[in-house]
Amino acid sequence: MKPLYRVVPSSITMSLDKTAKELIASGRDVINLTAGQVDLPMPKSGKDAVIAALNADRTGYVPATGSADVKAAVRSRMGWKGGSILISAGAKPLVSAAVACLAGPGDEVLLPAPCYTSYPEMIRLAGAVPVSVSGDPENRFALSKTALEQAVSPRTKALLFNNPVNPTGTVYRREELRAIVDFCKEHDLWLVADEVYGEFVYDGIFVSLNAFTDAWDRLILVNSASKSYAMAGLRLGYAVAPESAADAIAGYLSHTLGCPCSLSERAAIAVLHDDARFCRDLRDTFRKRRDVLYPLLAAIPGIRVEQSAGAFYLWIDIRETGMDDAAFCRDLLERESVALTPGSAFLCPGFVRLAYAQPEPVLREAAERLARFVSHPGFREDR
Ligand code: GLU
Repeated sequence: MKPLYRVVPSSITMSLDKTAKELIASGRDVINLTAGQVDLPMPKSGKDAVIAALNADRTGYVPATGSADVKAAVRSRMGWKGGSILISAGAKPLVSAAVACLAGPGDEVLLPAPCYTSYPEMIRLAGAVPVSVSGDPENRFALSKTALEQAVSPRTKALLFNNPVNPTGTVYRREELRAIVDFCKEHDLWLVADEVYGEFVYDGIFVSLNAFTDAWDRLILVNSASKSYAMAGLRLGYAVAPESAADAIAGYLSHTLGCPCSLSERAAIAVLHDDARFCRDLRDTFRKRRDVLYPLLAAIPGIRVEQSAGAFYLWIDIRETGMDDAAFCRDLLERESVALTPGSAFLCPGFVRLAYAQPEPVLREAAERLARFVSHPGFREDR
């Protein structure tokens, strides 16, 4: 047998989620706070649209980057002007196709640390080199222009950016985004921005990079229905990109994914037209959850939880416990049946991520278990 050419480590968020679900299926009372997935049902209009499309036999291929009416619905809902709209099977294929088209062997792509677990692998899969830039721990782990200036090189092709941030919940301010755009312009870089948590902003308003018209010629802006409309499994993402990049991404997607799911497209049209209240209610639910959970965690001695203004993650500093983040998560699961994701999965050891996509009583129980775990008398000696 010839050796494998490439071994790609599987997504840690997805494999931990799978492990936690297997434990639950085996009868263990595990609280699964690993994968970020909305735990509420998608809008009824979307369900009805899928059923109607299925009954109407709309099961054939659709265009590689989506049907014209879906593109129009995305454009109008997102307020995206200019450029070309691309529809695909979730945000991930759009981000990875963008990276693959913009960077190749010998090129470098900047990305923040901490960052979403799949970004470095997407860059490596493109044959390029991920160059992580540490966010400022004194400023919500936000990327600063100074740190970016230190990391950029003549080989840098793009910045892979995310706002609101998975895993910290940070929401960038307008002036911080301005600095990111200026940096990309000054160094002539592409800016690939993942805004899938844009509907989940609890303090202040969300400023999309789309607001910066002078960035449009270098901006590939990605979003999806997965989080906003609680339909992650239907895999429906969308992006806007300048024409040259959009054409390249479209070609790439036509050879890899083929096309988005025809039924998910119908669901997307329905929810995008009929959604405003759904998104508001979802945001209120998650804001309440954060407001319940944050003070409970902040009161636990020995750990420190970051203030989070968006997404549905809390980012917990466990360095004071003296435990390695992977060991912390492993032991927490073993002793208290709470599943979290180690920060090293996000290029940031010493931290753990908690996804609060669970009902309030479950979150309260998780906080109790976490407090008990951290205060366990044998905690320090056992490690
Ligand atoms: N994006 C979510 C997370 O960070 C879902 C899992 C995944 O796609 O990796 O947990």
